[in-house]
Amino acid sequence: MTRYIVMDFDVVIIGAGPAGTVCAYLLRKAGIPCALVDFATFPRDKICGGGLTPKAYRLLAELMPNLHYSYKAIRKIRMGYDHKILNEIELPDEIRIVRRKEFDNALLQQYRDAGGLFVQDVFAAFERQGDGLVVRLQSGKELRCRYLVGADGANSRVRRQIMGHYNGNVLCLEQYVERNGSAPRDTIEGVVSNDYENGYYYIFPNDRCDVVGLGARGMTVQRFREVLARQGIAETQIRGANIPVEEVCSGMDDVMLIGDAGGFANKLSYEGLYYAFATGRNAAEAIITGRPFGQTNSDIYRRKRKERILAGIFYSRFGMFLVRHLTSCTWLVKKIFVAGLHTNTVAAQ
Ligand SMILES: Cc1cc2nc3c(=O)[nH]c(=O)nc-3n(C[C@H](O)[C@H](O)[C@H](O)COP(=O)(O)OP(=O)(O)OC[C@H]3O[C@@H](n4cnc5c(N)ncnc54)[C@H](O)[C@@H]3O)c2cc1C
Repeated sequence: MTRYIVMDFDVVIIGAGPAGTVCAYLLRKAGIPCALVDFATFPRDKICGGGLTPKAYRLLAELMPNLHYSYKAIRKIRMGYDHKILNEIELPDEIRIVRRKEFDNALLQQYRDAGGLFVQDVFAAFERQGDGLVVRLQSGKELRCRYLVGADGANSRVRRQIMGHYNGNVLCLEQYVERNGSAPRDTIEGVVSNDYENGYYYIFPNDRCDVVGLGARGMTVQRFREVLARQGIAETQIRGANIPVEEVCSGMDDVMLIGDAGGFANKLSYEGLYYAFATGRNAAEAIITGRPFGQTNSDIYRRKRKERILAGIFYSRFGMFLVRHLTSCTWLVKKIFVAGLHTNTVAAQ
């Protein structure tokens, strides 16, 4: 029979990505005993464009004021429809492009520097015992806790245990394109089309190469290959990952799903980092104050409802018609972008 090593904590957090580390760091700062569990050896990579919008890096600066990380600053965005670039705008504030491997490691280091406990292990399952929870790890450890936070990303096992199949993923495929000596880009490109279902084609430059990708419903490798060919881009190594855009609720006050595990990425732009920080903060707030996560996270739920309506309009045939005819109107596009990238960072409720 398996002998378990049993440990007691107030909170167990599964997943040391941006959502989990922000939550763990804030709890640690508040003096609440917690364990942050991740199966990866850090620094670990994560498929991601690495774009931090102004609202995301401002919120992060509030939550982790001593954090330092390197990034490439981009101030220009080009937009197009159906493979044609129609406009270029200059943004008042930069978008920061980070490399997730280093960025996520820097976040985790902040938590560790604050004395936080990191457990390298695989989450297997949880169960209710008495008035608490028991979290089982693959190594045989059992962590007893009052709260469990699922921050284990797009294919969350915590979410799967609670609700089984999840239907809110958008597949995003991308590849790196070497610049072969040409000057680094200083512009992000985004192109929509009636050919992509609820999504867009993008080029994100980072310091060594460009990341070319396409995120849309029903995306397949074959579709992505066709788009690369149309753009005259040679195929290198295509990688893919899900972005979960339909938020889910655990239905339990002592089990919370945050970041990608909770399906919080933006339904229109697929931005996920801001939501990872915000929901990580809101889960910590719920635990510290003893209020339900549904309450501390209410502003994010409101924002998601608005996004659902906006995405429905934007990605409809009518929306694409408007994009095609209004994208060349610089002042309007700038207004929309600035609103989307900046919108005030919302405080925990
Ligand atoms: C192609 C692509 C491009 C993107 N570009 C952007 C962008 O430019 N800007 C932006 O804001 N967002 C972007 N996103 C979204 C963004 O990457 C995510 O929203 C963000 O990483 C979510 O953070 P998280 O902490 O919730 O999850 P993750 O960063 O996925 O972290 C989850 C962690 O959980 C761990 N884990 C998983 N399962 C277990 C288990 N069973 N046991 C233990 N540990 C486990 C993993 O090892 C991982 O470290 C992109 C996503 C994709 C797929």
